[in-house]
Amino acid sequence: MWPQINRVASIFFIHSLARAGIPPYLGALMSSIIHLDQLEKVYRSAEEPVYAVRSVTLDIQQGEFVAIMGTSGSGKSTLMNILGCLDRPTGGSYQLDGVEVSSLSRNQLSDLRNRKIGFIFQNFNLLSRTTALENVELPMLYRRSAMSRREQRDKAMKMLDLVGIGKRAYHTPNQLSGGQQQRVAIARALINDPVLLLADESTGNLDTRTSIEILGIFQRLNDAGITIVMVTHENDVAQYARRIIVMRDGRIRSDTPVTQRLNAEEELKNLPAVDAA
Ligand code: ADP
Ligand code: MG
Repeated sequence: MWPQINRVASIFFIHSLARAGIPPYLGALMSSIIHLDQLEKVYRSAEEPVYAVRSVTLDIQQGEFVAIMGTSGSGKSTLMNILGCLDRPTGGSYQLDGVEVSSLSRNQLSDLRNRKIGFIFQNFNLLSRTTALENVELPMLYRRSAMSRREQRDKAMKMLDLVGIGKRAYHTPNQLSGGQQQRVAIARALINDPVLLLADESTGNLDTRTSIEILGIFQRLNDAGITIVMVTHENDVAQYARRIIVMRDGRIRSDTPVTQRLNAEEELKNLPAVDAA
């Protein structure tokens, strides 16, 4: 199945370039997916203002796989919410795939989010009474699409196959394990051909083996050209990325390439076999 993913993902990649009016051969030379310039987020609800993100300047290029680390309260989720167009900065500039986000209205923001971003959360966030297939189809229903219902269903099915869960398409979340639910959530995140995948502690509720399997899916998607930013507090998990950004008190404290990158496929081979009993 995995050889297929490169093809499917690269087709999506080329489509997204075409949508942006950029010929594929220029894709390799393309500029940042994420460009942050002196980004600020101040919460003023409390008596004392909280400076959650302070003067963050950062570029993430197409095809990167970035892990964001930092202690609790360091501003990771605030930054992710801004990157994901769920929230707007109070200062500075954020350009997503060439579009200045800071000045968009709420509607424009949600439209941009739907077209460009796939989210994967710690607790999967699937609709509980709804089959895996319907969960994956859902983001397409919010988009004006030229696709027929049949084509949408076929695409959702393909995405479930891609993450290795096609056989469970008609199961509801309570009939699936945590790892299987997270696979469904990844398929859902991919359904609108996003330019960016954002994952906030997406392996936080999973056992070691399942976590590595999910990280393996991320590595395959990234190898196929999809840009990934994931928040984790686990150093082991961060070593599957290509670049690690550590935050502290709302600022970037360090930004370094991963030198001895872990390969999920290799790590899975080295794990002791699962006890069949
Ligand atoms: P992390 O995800 O790294 O734990 P957060 O981004 O959640 O950090 O929080 C950064 C800081 O901003 C913390 O001091 C937190 O208390 C504060 N904060 C987060 N969200 C809000 C909010 N909605 N209103 C006020 N303060 C907030
Ligand atoms: Mg957080």
